[in-house]
Amino acid sequence: MSWFWRGLRAGVLTEGPAPEALPESLSPGLPRATEFSTPAQAAEIAARCPTGALEAQDRVVGVQPDRCVDCMRCKSAQEWRHDVRWAHPDAVERFGSRFKHSIHVRIIDAGDCGSCLNELAQLTGPSYNLHRFGIFITPTPRQADVLLVVGPVTRQMAGPLKVAYEAMPSPKRVLAVGACAASGGIFGPSVMSAGGAADAVPVDLTVPGCPPPPLAIIGALRALCGQEPPA
Ligand code: SF4
Ligand code: SF4
Repeated sequence: MSWFWRGLRAGVLTEGPAPEALPESLSPGLPRATEFSTPAQAAEIAARCPTGALEAQDRVVGVQPDRCVDCMRCKSAQEWRHDVRWAHPDAVERFGSRFKHSIHVRIIDAGDCGSCLNELAQLTGPSYNLHRFGIFITPTPRQADVLLVVGPVTRQMAGPLKVAYEAMPSPKRVLAVGACAASGGIFGPSVMSAGGAADAVPVDLTVPGCPPPPLAIIGALRALCGQEPPA
């Protein structure tokens, strides 16, 4: 009973993470473009990346976030960001408020390793409580506004993914979650998989990470609705 009265007194059903708790504990972060003292140093840092996410141009090492798998090999040198706005920064303006009231999301596992799905499974739990934003998971594409894809899209899943996309009513949007769905990640393109969801369906927004943390995924879903990520 004491928890019940405590909840009533607090008057808060679901709370966001404290701002100071965001770094490290909730998000592994992502590298960002960094300037080094010499071109040779920049080239050495870029060469550390196993996925080609880092590219050296003169003294600056740029980052393609969709390719980053958070292996941390560059972390000691590259500048790092810890916010959870991992989808493209202009997404909120780009998508406007067309889906602002309530959306249904169909999740398709197109060959994910299990970790991206684990992060998605947390979204509807009490900690993240996705429903408070009016975002719901649906088992059928016919009711879905957003197709959320994880995995690099194996050859076997390319067809079913296209069928699911075609079955959705318009307007519809596609969100690729994780490095695999965003760019093929560490698996594709290969004999077994494509180079990400965009090879099969038109992708509107990507959330990098391997896997991305739940707050980054929620932020991307809200961006698709033309709304800011949760504070
Ligand atoms: S964390 Fe790993 S995958 Fe990501 S940019 Fe750095 S070296 Fe590349
Ligand atoms: S992005 Fe990483 S965590 Fe997600 S499915 Fe690919 S390998 Fe697994």
